[in-house]
Amino acid sequence: MNQESDKQTDGQTEGQYAFPSVFSLDGKLALITGGGSGIGFDIARCMVAAGARVVITGRREQPLQEAIAMLGEKAYYMVNDVTERARLDELVNNIETTYGPIDILVNNAGVNMKKPALEVTDEDFDRIVHTNLNSLFSLTRSCARRMIDRGRGSIIMISSMAAYYGIDRVAAYAASKSGVEGMVKVLASEFSGRGVRVNAIAPGFIETAMSKTAMGGDPERFDRAMRRTPMGKFGKPQDIGWAAVFLASEAACYVTGASLPVDGGNSIGF
Ligand code: NDP
Repeated sequence: MNQESDKQTDGQTEGQYAFPSVFSLDGKLALITGGGSGIGFDIARCMVAAGARVVITGRREQPLQEAIAMLGEKAYYMVNDVTERARLDELVNNIETTYGPIDILVNNAGVNMKKPALEVTDEDFDRIVHTNLNSLFSLTRSCARRMIDRGRGSIIMISSMAAYYGIDRVAAYAASKSGVEGMVKVLASEFSGRGVRVNAIAPGFIETAMSKTAMGGDPERFDRAMRRTPMGKFGKPQDIGWAAVFLASEAACYVTGASLPVDGGNSIGF
């Protein structure tokens, strides 16, 4: 790279690095699925704090209404079930017509199911994979077509430790999240040369309704999770939110195809 093009590097102005604005999401529009609660809500919160406008989606209207009341005037919602794959193009079109081009897609909506593998029915398995993987692909394709036409965009998938190592009783969930991890690499290799970065965040154990259900009444599972988490505690939804802000921002302009663990060290714990 020559000196001239060095000067044009994102996040750098003449002679000075543009801190903290290189982390700013000012002027960006983010679509966050499942943004009415849990991790998705805090991703929305952090992105609004970083200057973005956000559209949050989910199946239930009431939590979405409560969420935008807390998020303020830069937040909007649309009721949408990601599993209705044939309607996702329409969702994206509605959002872009109403609010403008989507710069950031966060595929956060997801469902979990804890059951011994031998008891998982085909219907159980299909339901989890359909929500967490198949629908995520359809929505990503719809957004990515438009992002690639515009030559810019950032796509973030919310993965899981279940894609990193063997957690018992989550066969379908682990299969879906492992699929997401594979997809990140493929999509990053196809899209990154056309201005669209694709990354994942792999949360460790984060305090939400989902983890409460997974750990509730199972102190042995809770202890096992904490024993292999060097920081010795659950994370908070905003820990994922700030990582998402970073990945969506110009500060991460050379980061693509990555899966970032935000896990208190859980993935490397002994
Ligand atoms: P929650 O169950 O607290 O929230 C899930 C959100 O997704 C809800 O807002 C829900 O809204 C929405 N959602 C679920 N199904 C659909 C659907 N079909 N269409 C649209 N929205 C949907 O989960 P978390 O916040 O804990 O999890 C968020 C993501 O983080 C998930 O992908 C999960 O797998 C991942 N994760 C969570 C971890 C944790 O420790 N909490 C650890 C690792 C990964 P509604 O019900 O109204 O549709």
